[in-house]
Formats: sequence, C-alpha cells, structure tokens
Amino acid sequence: MPVRYILTWLDTEDYVAPAADDAALFVAETLSRHNLVGTFKVVGEKARVLERRGRRDAIKAIARHAVGFHTDFHSKPPTVPVYLEPMADWDESVAEFERREGRGVEDVKHIFGKEISCYGQPGTGWAPQAHRALLDWHVPLYLDGFSYVGLDGGPFWFQNVLTVCRMKASVYVPWQDAEPAAKAVELFRRAMDALPAGGIISFGGHPCELCDAEWWDVVNFSGGVDRDPSAYVAPRQFPSERIAKNRTEFEKVCAFVENLPGVKSVGPDAIVEACRDTTLGKRFTREVVEAAARRLAESISFLPIEEGHLSAAQAFYLLADFAAAKSSALPAEARAKPVLGPKSRAETTIAASHIPGDEVVAAARRARRDMDKTKHLPSAVEVSDGLLSAGDFCATLAGFMASWLSDGARPERAEVRKGRLDFEKYMTGLGDCNDWPPFPPDFHAPRLEEFARLQAWTIKPAVEVSRASS
Ligand SMILES: [Zn+2]
Repeated sequence: MPVRYILTWLDTEDYVAPAADDAALFVAETLSRHNLVGTFKVVGEKARVLERRGRRDAIKAIARHAVGFHTDFHSKPPTVPVYLEPMADWDESVAEFERREGRGVEDVKHIFGKEISCYGQPGTGWAPQAHRALLDWHVPLYLDGFSYVGLDGGPFWFQNVLTVCRMKASVYVPWQDAEPAAKAVELFRRAMDALPAGGIISFGGHPCELCDAEWWDVVNFSGGVDRDPSAYVAPRQFPSERIAKNRTEFEKVCAFVENLPGVKSVGPDAIVEACRDTTLGKRFTREVVEAAARRLAESISFLPIEEGHLSAAQAFYLLADFAAAKSSALPAEARAKPVLGPKSRAETTIAASHIPGDEVVAAARRARRDMDKTKHLPSAVEVSDGLLSAGDFCATLAGFMASWLSDGARPERAEVRKGRLDFEKYMTGLGDCNDWPPFPPDFHAPRLEEFARLQAWTIKPAVEVSRASS
C-alpha cells in the first residue's frame, strides 16, 4: 500500500494577541495527544514574546514537535520583498536577508532548544534570496503553501534546497465554514485520491486562526505602514463559545488523521531523508552526457536520468566538465555539480554564426573553473568575438557535444545556438505581487522576479527515494 506522508505545519506568528499563545499551546498538545507530528514555523518575535510572557508551557509543548522559522517580524514593515527589491546585487541582497532575519533564527533555536528544520515566508512575502540563505543556515527544507516557483504540484529542488510548496495534495481547515472539520476531512480524502502512488500531503494552518477573528497583521500593518510596538492593536477575538467550537473541530480533524490508514505523520527530517538528491557526488557516463547534450541544444530545463533528475544548471556543468577534459580523446565520465544559477543576466554580443571548436572547449574549461570557484553558473562566457550568454553558450556547447559524441570526432566548429530557457516557465507572477495587505500600495517586484528566473536554472523534481522508517 502506498504511503502518504502528512506534513502538518503551523505558522506561529501572532505576537500581539496573548490568546494566540493559548491557541499555539492547544494545537501542540492536541497534535501530541493524537500522535501527530507538527512543524511549528515560528516567527522570531513570537518566540521572544512567548518567553517574555513566561509561556514555558507553550514553548515546551511546541518543542515536542519540529520547529521551523517564519522570519523575524513577519509582516512588520518593511517586509522581506520590500527591503530586498531595491537591491541590485545578488550577494548583497542575500547578505541583507541573512542580516535582518538571522537574529530570529538564533532566537528561535535558543528559545526552543532545537535546530531549525524548515523555513516558509510570511503571506506572499516570497523572495529567492531566502532559499540561498537556507543553504548558509543549514536549514534543509523550504515549506509553505504558497510560492512563486512550483513544479506540477510535487516537491522540488530550487537552489539546491528541497522545497514543499504549491502541492497538489494540500489541506487547509476552512475555518469560515459552518462545519470546518467535516470539510477538512473531505479535503483529506481528495488529497489521498490525488496521490494514488503515495507522496506528500501538505496540511497547513495557523494556531491563531482558532481565536483571532481577523488577521493580526492586517489590523496593524495594512498598506505597509509600520507602528511602534506600544501602538499594536490586538485583533478582534472570537467569542469564547466559538473558540471552544474551533478547538473541538481541530481535535476532530486530528482524530481523523490519526486513524487514517496508509498515512504517516512526519516532520521535515523524514521528508528530507526520503527525498535526498541521489545525483550528488555521482559521475555520469557518456550516454548520460549525450542525452543531456541533445536535450539542452533544443530546450534548457531539468532532465530525467536513472538516478533522478539533473537541473539545467547541473546539466550545464556536466557538459562543461566533459568538454573540458584534458585529453583530446573523449573522457569516459563527467560530474554534474549542483551549481547555482547566474547572479545576473548578460546578453550575447557576438554576431558570428559559428565558433571554432578549440574556442568552445577553451570557453568550457574557463566556465568550469569559474563554477568550481564561485559555485554559480557564469552570466556569460567570452569567446574571441565577444560574449555568449549562459543560455546561448549552454545550447551552443550542447549542440557541439551532441555531434562530437555521435560522430566520435570533435567537430571543427560549433554552430551558435540560441538557448531556450524553458525552466523559466516554473516561475510565475512574482513581479506582479501586490496582493498582501502589509505590502505598500502598488508594490511590484520585477527585480526579485529576475533573480528568481536566474535561479530557476536549479529547479528540478524531488523524487522520493526511500521511505522513512516507522
Ligand atoms: Zn505567516
């Protein structure tokens, strides 16, 4: 029988209403009572507030589950995309995210006494710099409902970080419904049906929804206007009977999940273990290189191989590594290091329709050296006539390698090809983001979108390679 993992995640964020502390305690204890693993993505300020209010009970109850991170101040202006959008330099903007949010990571770790198992953005406050920061912080999973990058409703790798977002099997308790538990049960049944061969069911929510009758951040930070903590307004609360009913409804959902056959309630560690990237450290044969070359010459995107998938960035590295081999004979194998996307975009400047084979090989060698040093794809490579953008060089090298491998002799020259960056189609709509109340009116993020497109070189499906032990 296929196993469906249920990843239950709770954005624990309302640091204004004290009743939200009780709600978080209740949710953590209820999950434990029903033998379910929760993943509490905690906001830094929420963790500090729990400590200041002496809520050791809530801290202890949450610490029995997995703990994730949900930014330092959530929707307090300036939010993540708002402070990152003006920054034109990729490295500087990643450093800015780490500087502003890093304190929260340390506080959450320290207050709960646990490593951070995942991160997910507040609201639609998504930015590609966060994925990059997770590599530095050794946080192994990006977990959220919403994302501007998605891959057919399954888990995927983005910037070499396992990402569970925009899942086809997702459940959210519809609290506004008259019978939320009954509706949630129906959603669980649908999620099970959507995964006939197993997979991940994303079950997300917010403890504060049990008590807050309105969003705590909408009443405080609408329109991107900040206020002093002394002026924070507590969100309107549900009447006590409604809170009691919400608790009963949540308990019903937990009881249902606990007794659902064929599911396993897990935290991020089990998902990370099950979906580990089996292409890492491997050497690939000529057959794989040839298949990659044929594909990339026509369409640049991730590609399936026996061990899983290679991202477009890995496939680029693979071709460069193969072409860069010292001897003039074809090497037997090559590596596909998981490099990141280019940090900026460059345009092709050469007008020639062909480049000498020697120049292609020399450029591949320089590109590989560059990637080994920077861990990023180059924005462009230089040939004698000028520049080839990363995409155009990738397609040109791919065409050259494909004929080299099929003929067995190195071609005298390579046809200059235009790279089709098909991986960019998995990135949608970030530039238009303006639908989150804490954003300033008319906020748009074209620069974040461009950075995300560049990093989409790294997107590829994450395949479950093993089952976590029970
Ligand atoms: Zn949130």
